[in-house]
Amino acid sequence: MTSRLYADHNATTPLRPEARAAMLEALDVGGNPSSVHGEGRRAKRLLEDARESLAKVLECQAEAITLTSGATEALHLCLESAKAMGFGPVFISAVEHDAVWTYAARLWPEAQIIPVNRGGLVDVAWLSGELDNQRGQPLVIVQGANNEVGTLQPLNLISTKVRAVGGALLCDGVQLLGKVSVGQFAGLADWLVVSSHKIGGPGGAGALISAPGIDVVNHRSGGGQERGGRSGTENIAAIAGFAAAARAACGDDAVLDFQRLTSEARHGFELAVATALPEVEFVGHQVRRLANTSCIVVEGWEGAAQVMALDLAGAAISAGSACSSGKVKMSRVLKAAGFSDLAATSAIRASFGWSSQVEDGARLADLYLKAAARAGRPLSSQAA
Ligand code: PLP
Repeated sequence: MTSRLYADHNATTPLRPEARAAMLEALDVGGNPSSVHGEGRRAKRLLEDARESLAKVLECQAEAITLTSGATEALHLCLESAKAMGFGPVFISAVEHDAVWTYAARLWPEAQIIPVNRGGLVDVAWLSGELDNQRGQPLVIVQGANNEVGTLQPLNLISTKVRAVGGALLCDGVQLLGKVSVGQFAGLADWLVVSSHKIGGPGGAGALISAPGIDVVNHRSGGGQERGGRSGTENIAAIAGFAAAARAACGDDAVLDFQRLTSEARHGFELAVATALPEVEFVGHQVRRLANTSCIVVEGWEGAAQVMALDLAGAAISAGSACSSGKVKMSRVLKAAGFSDLAATSAIRASFGWSSQVEDGARLADLYLKAAARAGRPLSSQAA
């Protein structure tokens, strides 16, 4: 029996062995890190070791890190903090993840949406003009890389502009970590958010890194953990696994290896599909994008049907962003990028990662093309 092919790393990654080992060790420690007895102190030590380790990887001070139950909680903390600190007007990119998008819309219904081009790239000239014409302390919300298309946003340019006008930049860096060298984005945002399960760590752990002078305002009363920044007993095993995964995945050499491996796998996939399926449209080809991500549209072949066909054939991909109901919605990202309703419901994403093999690209293409033929899509005469 052939093994299943997992190409949904942007949704979640398989657990790295280093993370598993660190978690098992931490599970045996027990103790609440807020307790003053020996068991508590041991748990506290694990927590602080993980924080220091993450700080080294993320090129920041340990005190700048607030550990959370994942990126969603961290992003909400940032948004609430920005609100409490009185930042405004607010500018949010049209392609943010729902973890940011829906809550920001609730906090600032008047927020202005930063347009993007057909590759999902934010319009920096538009943003610059708006920032020049506003009075106040603007908050700009732009992700580092898009989860569906892989578009890399020009954080350097945006950060320089935002700082020049006295504003703050909130960056969802979930899809950057482990895929792009940390040196390329460290220190650019006032709040940066990352997540454990996108780099081979467990689900349920994340972090926000705040720049000096930027507060984390906690509206939830409780134990006041994380120096008051966040309440709730820490998940020590998940945090230890997160730190171990970050050590394994985020050094410059590891990132280069990741880029080489995944870009080769993706190239194999895209080349074979482009050759055999004339009607396919690749999204994000005209912009800088993550090495591991391929977003393609076959107009009229529903994304959900494509995902199911591939699942039956033994491969895991995704249609736009996964949502907890398991339903597939029209891609808001593709709509913002100017695609039609039909195209935005006919998109899929393949995302390779640390556990992929180079050959996975060609293997996935083979399964995909067979599924396309079964679905009645016309294949070119060059198709094998
Ligand atoms: N932001 C982006 C870009 C993501 O891809 C995800 C996960 O899908 C999240 C935020 C949410 O992360 P978490 O699952 O850690 O809450």
